[in-house]
Amino acid sequence: MPLTADLVERARRALPETEVEWLAPAEAVELGPLELDPETARRRVRDALDAAPVDVCALPFEGRRKQLLLADMDSTIIQVECVDELADALGIRERIAAITARAMNGEIPFAAALGERVALLEGLEQATLEHIAETRTPLSPGAGTLVATMKAHGAVTGLVSGGFTLFTSRVRARCGFDHDRANTLEIAGGELTGRVVPPIQDHGAKVDEFERLVAAHDLLDEDVIAVGDGANDVPMLQRAGIGVAYRAHQKVRAQVPIRLDVADLTGALYLQGYRRDEFVEG
Ligand SMILES: [Mg+2]
Repeated sequence: MPLTADLVERARRALPETEVEWLAPAEAVELGPLELDPETARRRVRDALDAAPVDVCALPFEGRRKQLLLADMDSTIIQVECVDELADALGIRERIAAITARAMNGEIPFAAALGERVALLEGLEQATLEHIAETRTPLSPGAGTLVATMKAHGAVTGLVSGGFTLFTSRVRARCGFDHDRANTLEIAGGELTGRVVPPIQDHGAKVDEFERLVAAHDLLDEDVIAVGDGANDVPMLQRAGIGVAYRAHQKVRAQVPIRLDVADLTGALYLQGYRRDEFVEG
């Protein structure tokens, strides 16, 4: 559904004294400057738009173009959970998906869920795994453009995942990320052993990578935009200058005020004030 002039006018009336700047025709607009605190402003506009399928986000104009992008992989940069795709190859998708869903909703600790899932993968051939990683990890719409545009404007980009390096290394290459960090599956005799090579990369590892890249590039936490959908992404989303919950699970939505539910990943560029004619296709 296009963003119509009528919807934009309703938003503008909800925020008197603001001016409208179109970032992309019929797609994205920003209003400012804000006199209200961001959450009050967001609620007023949300109420004014009723249930129209439009993302409404409120954040400071100052410093909104970020110098470091940190993105979760599964169900964020790619459209699938890689461990579920692996499970398909063994015919145990439902058992694995149930564990994944509980973990992403914060019901069981991440490390325990990872261990349970990987144990079920014991005996899978490495060649099968590589084929899955090559063929069953479709990028989310806008992922390549998000990375390419931020890099073209001088940002550093990192892919962080509680998944596996065998997947992140390939997605990193296809999408153009500078860095990737994830778990390494133990392989012996060409088959998965059902174990992860320690140390386990959990949500703590995502914050570790956040801190490592911020320090390495002489940045501040507010210079970071982070994007993710799962409970294990919340610490990095809350730490970043802009933390984006992307088509996120319910528990995540409750903890992260900036949410994209309608837009694709280029929404993370509009949040930074990029116009569509500044995008670099990736
Ligand atoms: Mg995810």
